[in-house]
Amino acid sequence: MGIDKDNVRFVIHYSPAASLENYYQEIGRSGRDGKESFAFMLWNKQELLNFDQILKNQIPNKAEFLKIVSYLYSIFQVAEFELPEKTFQLNITGIQNFTKLSKAKINNVLNFLHNQEIIYYNDNKSLSSLELFIKSDEIDQLPQKDAYFIELLFRTISGLTTHKVMFSEQQVSNKINVSAPLIKERLKELQQKNYLEYVDGALSSIKFLKPRDERAVNSIYWKLFEHIQRNKIQKWEEMKFYTENNSYCKMKLILAYFGEKNSKNCGHCSVCEKNKQSIFGKNISQQIINLLAKKPSTIEELSIQLSYHSKENILENLIFLLDSGKVRMLNFRTYMLNN
Ligand SMILES: [Zn+2]
Repeated sequence: MGIDKDNVRFVIHYSPAASLENYYQEIGRSGRDGKESFAFMLWNKQELLNFDQILKNQIPNKAEFLKIVSYLYSIFQVAEFELPEKTFQLNITGIQNFTKLSKAKINNVLNFLHNQEIIYYNDNKSLSSLELFIKSDEIDQLPQKDAYFIELLFRTISGLTTHKVMFSEQQVSNKINVSAPLIKERLKELQQKNYLEYVDGALSSIKFLKPRDERAVNSIYWKLFEHIQRNKIQKWEEMKFYTENNSYCKMKLILAYFGEKNSKNCGHCSVCEKNKQSIFGKNISQQIINLLAKKPSTIEELSIQLSYHSKENILENLIFLLDSGKVRMLNFRTYMLNN
């Protein structure tokens, strides 16, 4: 949400954010001009349960984690302590078929490896890239079929003779009247012969950034992964508590989350509004009686509890209660119920 306006009046979440940090940052995009603005969050119980499930399902156990990581190394034939230089094309369906694990678990592990800079994982669909290793004067020495195809490429993709280029198979296909899948297939064949390097932009790609290290995968990487997953779950639990909770001021909860312990009720959030309504809705005298039933209190103590009312208002009601004999003085400062 890259919004660069200071007069945003509403932020509406149509489902809870993944963490309170995210949520707070997102609602902070409203009212930057200091004027009143509103943050709404739509949610239901089922949605929370669904997200619990989604979160749980994307976390592999250790055996599954190791299976995914070692599959990556073995499919690209990376030996222990080796660091290949090239970028490989990654077929997620291939990993799924081999490991029999969900795409969510596989992506979770790949993103972890990417974030830890163990691999560079590119899941963005983009243009394909092509780099020729054959010079134009060497083409004659190639088998005729290959030479012909490369000539075609030279004529349809500009810049190919001198450098690596980004291109679209579909555009080449339109120019030379060969189907895009067939072009891809031919390029892969030529890549196998080491004439060129071809990266299919429609597939994910992966480049290893650190040498393969089985011991690290088994210990450090796994422990770190596990830690991050636990953290993710905890952040979600906190978000869930925030969402479902109905008794603490929402702002107070957010500030407490960020370590501010002694903040006051904001007076504006859904919880504060509800409390105000129930206090205003009921007789204020009844509120005082309820509090005094718990323990004798001073007017100051009562005002703290009934912070939505002015002290004058509380005092007025108290005098009325004294007059009617429902309340009496315990000492010159403290009031109690007259039983
Ligand atoms: Zn509040």
